[in-house]
Amino acid sequence: MIRKKVIAGNWKMNKTAAEGAELAKDILAEVGRETSVDVVLCPPFTALAAVGQCLEGQAVKLGAQNMHPEKNGAFTGEISAEMLRTLYVTHVILGHSERRQYFGETDAFVNKKVLAALANELRPILCVGETLAEREAGRTLDVVRRQTEGALAGVKPEQLTTVIIAYEPVWAIGTGKVATTAQAQEVHAFIRDLLAKLYGAPLAQKVRILYGGSMKPANAPELLAQPDIDGGLIGGASLEAKSFVELVRAAQAAG
Ligand code: PEP
Repeated sequence: MIRKKVIAGNWKMNKTAAEGAELAKDILAEVGRETSVDVVLCPPFTALAAVGQCLEGQAVKLGAQNMHPEKNGAFTGEISAEMLRTLYVTHVILGHSERRQYFGETDAFVNKKVLAALANELRPILCVGETLAEREAGRTLDVVRRQTEGALAGVKPEQLTTVIIAYEPVWAIGTGKVATTAQAQEVHAFIRDLLAKLYGAPLAQKVRILYGGSMKPANAPELLAQPDIDGGLIGGASLEAKSFVELVRAAQAAG
């Protein structure tokens, strides 16, 4: 079963609209028409429109970093799925550990967002992953199971392959500490196994599971060669065209 690899750049709270457009253009010049890998750029809300304009007619997709589950209403500072759709957003990162850690997002809230994204034909990039304390306490797989099951509650079998899962060990995000390929592959295989239990093996085989956490051109080839690692969610290395393009090329090479 061949799963098309995904390289998604999470720009976090970086880049103004003008800076974002510049970065997008540099990336597009190299991999704008790339179709053997799904390439997704996730700028901050204020740069979505400008980056979206650059992506017109290109194969690279536009993603948001967050979304509120409600359609509209009194949610100061929030953005709905419908609003994202008007900006030609196709993907949305949900449940990122920074949202969980700094903004108190629970599994139940992430689940609402996943369901709202799917109802609005947005592709969720659902993040799961353990903290250092949880890993050291031997709770990695329990945490990942709880987060995955929680976020996918009510997701119908026919919707499952629209979801992209990103395993991001919290201790590896932005720290330069990358999980070993064995550590990453173990959790990816565990997630796929869990999906097989929930939805059956044929569907589980089709779901893309990305690794995130200090992925860089130097460590990507080995990670991307693992049987259950289907791409990367990239923070730091997505902020420069050169490193991001190299990661897309590594995913191309990994097939
Ligand atoms: C992320 O925040 O999704 C991420 C993986 O960041 P970094 O690549 O900087 O570790």
